[in-house]
Order: sequence, then C-alpha cells, then structure tokens
Amino acid sequence: MSKLKLAIQKSGRLKEGSIKLLKDCGIVIENGIDKLKINAKNFPLDVFYLRNNDIPQFLEDGVVDAAIIGENTLIEKNKDLKIVVKLGFSKCKLVLAVPKNDTFNDISWLEGKKIATSYPNSLKSFLKKNNINSDIHEISGSVEIAPGIGMADAICDLVSSGSTLFKNGLKEVKTILTSQACLAKNVNINYEIEKTLNRLLFRIESVLKAKRSKYILMNVPNNKIEQVSNILPVLKSPTVLPLAINGWSSLHSVINEDEFWMVIDKLKEAGAEDILIIPIEKMVM
Ligand code: AMP
Repeated sequence: MSKLKLAIQKSGRLKEGSIKLLKDCGIVIENGIDKLKINAKNFPLDVFYLRNNDIPQFLEDGVVDAAIIGENTLIEKNKDLKIVVKLGFSKCKLVLAVPKNDTFNDISWLEGKKIATSYPNSLKSFLKKNNINSDIHEISGSVEIAPGIGMADAICDLVSSGSTLFKNGLKEVKTILTSQACLAKNVNINYEIEKTLNRLLFRIESVLKAKRSKYILMNVPNNKIEQVSNILPVLKSPTVLPLAINGWSSLHSVINEDEFWMVIDKLKEAGAEDILIIPIEKMVM
C-alpha cells in the first residue's frame, strides 16, 4: 500500500485537533517538535508538520498529497485543491467588525473606509461582489487593535467566541464566510495514493459518525415496545433484551446527537423509563 503524505499544522490552533483525530483513527504518531516529517507506526502515512500558510502551496505542488487545514485558509490562498471531508473542529467565521459605538446600518458604511485584515483576498472578493471600494490594510496579526490605535476604521478577522472583539470594543457586523478544519487533497494524486487516502477517510468517517451519534438505552414495558421503537430513528432495528422483572424489556439503539432532546420527550410520553445516553467511540457501517 502506497504511503500517503499528509500535512498538518506545525503549530497553531488546528494542530491539537489534527493529532487527536489521527489518534482517534488508531494512527500512532509522535508530536512533531523540531521535526518536519514523522512516519506513522501503524499506517502507511508520513505526517509533515508545516506552517499553516504554506500548506495550500505544498499541497497544490504535490509535495504532500493531503492536508488538514482550515477551509478559510484554502479560500484565502485560492489554490486548485479539493476538500475531501469537513472535520467538525476549529469552527470559526471571517467577519467584519467595527467600533461598538459606530452606527453601522449596512455594508455601504464600508465605502471609502480603511479595513485591517490578515485575509486580504477573501475581503477583496467580498467587497468586489458588493461593489464597495475600501482601503485594505494587510497586517499579519493583532488585527483587533487596529481601530483602537487609529490604523483602521474596521477590521475583517476570524472569530470563534467573539471575546477578542468584545475586549477590544468592537462589534461584529457581517459574516463573510464560515470555516472549519477539513481534509483537503491534491487534485492529481495517483490511484495507489488515493486508495490509502480512502482507507484514512473510512476511519475518519467512522470517528465523525460516532461523534454525531449517541447510544441510547431505556426500559420499556413490553406492550409499549412497538410504540417506542417507532419514535427511534434506528440503524436497522432496536435491540430488545428481557429484564429480570416480568413484562419489561431493555431497548437499545443509536440516535443522532442533534435529535436526542426532542426524541427523549417523545420516548418518555410513549412509556420509556430510565433512559441512558452513552457516547460512542467508533461507528463502522
Ligand atoms: P493559526 O493562526 O496557525 O493558529 O491557525 C489559524 C487557523 O485556525 C485559521 O486559519 C482557522 O482555520 C482556525 N481558527 C479557528 N478559530 C479561530 C479563531 N478564533 N481565530 C483564528 N483562527 C481560528
């Protein structure tokens, strides 16, 4: 099986999540302190620890076959790459923010204003789409202080909780794009490498499915089993095991994390008792 070359962040916000995902997939790698390349012990994979902003270029050039990277970085760098799967961590959005006391009614407010950002290309294409002419000031970090020191009227920056904006007296006024970590690939990888990538993808999807799902157990009077089962969005059919008490069974199934509060109320109404929700580690279908 051909070895897959996978880039992850050398340091930064996505690094920990990327290593955790590989670990959840059963892949053993060392932490890449002072090392550029580390080979996985139990999977045909070389992990390259690279600078976040360099990853899209290395990926397009085929130096690596695939990478775990923020969607926003791929959009900003605008390279010919393909997103294989979104990974559900490092969620954030690229927003426009202005000083909290400014009256911002709509984006025409930005006309002729100075906007500081580390994401000039994403901002440029947003402004172009909206026919707005602003003065873009590209800075590499601490963008949120720019209005406070008189360097800009507004900023365009990544936000997750919004606390940095708040601490700097700014308010979010418009979302330009939303982002999360994703697995992206070079568009020209050969068939053998693609096979290894698909093996990795199979494991990743098992981990992601498990994260989105919960194992649910409950006690149900035997005459209510059908009614309760009809409420559950089951994989095939629920498991029903007899309890030591006559007339009762334990019913087991899997439900989607997003649905479970809604379903739980209906289950209780239908006669289910002692409902337990348990995390699932992997789901192989
Ligand atoms: P780094 O600057 O190397 O720590 O990583 C930046 C990447 O982390 C961004 O390109 C985003 O994909 C992701 N990210 C997630 N949340 C945030 C946030 N609140 N601020 C900046 N980057 C974020």
